[in-house]
Amino acid sequence: MDSEMLNSNYGLLPETYLFSQIAQKIAVYQKRRPEREVIRLGIGDVTCPLVPAVIEAMHRAVDEMALAESFRGYGPEQGYEFLRRAIAEGEYSARNIDISPDEIFVSDGSKCDVANIQELFSSQCRVAIPDPVYPVYLDSNVMAGRAGTLQNDGHYSRVNYMLCNADNGFQPELPPRDTDLIYLCSPNNPTGTVLSRTTLEKLVAYALEINAMILFDAAYADYIRDDSLVHSIYEIPGAKKCAVEFHSFSKSAGFTGVRCAFTVVPHEMEQLRRMWLRRQTTKFNGVNYIVQRAAEAVYSPAGREQTRNVILRYMNNAAAIRNGLQSCGYTVFGGEHAPYIWWKLPEGTKSFDFFDRLLEECAVVGTPGSGFGPGGEGFFRLTAFGDPAKTREALIRIAAMAQ
Ligand SMILES: *Cc1c(COP(=O)(O)O)cnc(C)c1O
Repeated sequence: MDSEMLNSNYGLLPETYLFSQIAQKIAVYQKRRPEREVIRLGIGDVTCPLVPAVIEAMHRAVDEMALAESFRGYGPEQGYEFLRRAIAEGEYSARNIDISPDEIFVSDGSKCDVANIQELFSSQCRVAIPDPVYPVYLDSNVMAGRAGTLQNDGHYSRVNYMLCNADNGFQPELPPRDTDLIYLCSPNNPTGTVLSRTTLEKLVAYALEINAMILFDAAYADYIRDDSLVHSIYEIPGAKKCAVEFHSFSKSAGFTGVRCAFTVVPHEMEQLRRMWLRRQTTKFNGVNYIVQRAAEAVYSPAGREQTRNVILRYMNNAAAIRNGLQSCGYTVFGGEHAPYIWWKLPEGTKSFDFFDRLLEECAVVGTPGSGFGPGGEGFFRLTAFGDPAKTREALIRIAAMAQ
């Protein structure tokens, strides 16, 4: 095979050493200090089991598959009507937002949807991406050849970065007017912060003015504990004309291994909605019936109550991490409406060096902020998905660490 045949844009991606490097460092440490229990607060994955309402729905669906009368083969590519209806009602009507089932596309994950959506747009489109942020938005555009080349400052030459840091209260400035696609993630991974209604109103008005599209990742919307904060971009007037929204059952209902999510493309952008429908019907064959019944059960009264309690358990961890670090005198962000705590490291500390120190002195693992973009340097991400007792033990160890 001739390498000329291959998509050379993949060569523009940096080697993703971060997570393999982290795993290796932990393995080396554990070999050297076998008696020490390593506490992992770096995991971006849920740990609680599926709730009973979901499990019961799955069992019922499995039994249906065992009978000729109720067996299901290929389902509709866009998702079963029963689930799209449950989403339209449970997610949108409940918030007085009018989204119809045919604007909802069920999928096997938001990661694939946020990575795939860019193929509906021209290769010349300019993207604006928060820094720091979930790496998929950037990498999928690098692969498609929209990002330009990687510069010494860690930024790509054709990407408009929206810096989100303590100085701007994690509310990005408007990107340059040549922007076509604006990626947003609120509540944010990794900073755990939320975009304000004012910020979102400004961004939507601006997108409409410059004819840009907003791609809004709401994977953590169910972690918001203040009803006045924006849960869906469609709460903002005008958003249906310029915004696609991504939701996942992964973090809201523990579906990271089960796989189910949905994307909303409103009728106000009918050409785009039809293109996404065409794309999904051509390249995707739907989520399995059992999983769609499980997702439907998330919106049942019992499902809501049970998933809310799991989220509360994680958010109690988040509060413990926030309070624990603050009482040591550290500055922290996030963790109030998201399962992530964004820890500002002492001035001049590199986040990767801090990883080593935290592992060595406390046997606690987190994620260096620089792994989410150059804007994450000097920060460290801790997650609230761990075991409550171990999370508290980690904070005792951190408190004992010399500052
Ligand atoms: C976890 C996560 C997702 C969800 O991805 P799935 O593929 O649905 O599991 C999406 N966006 C962000 C920012 C995430 O952290």
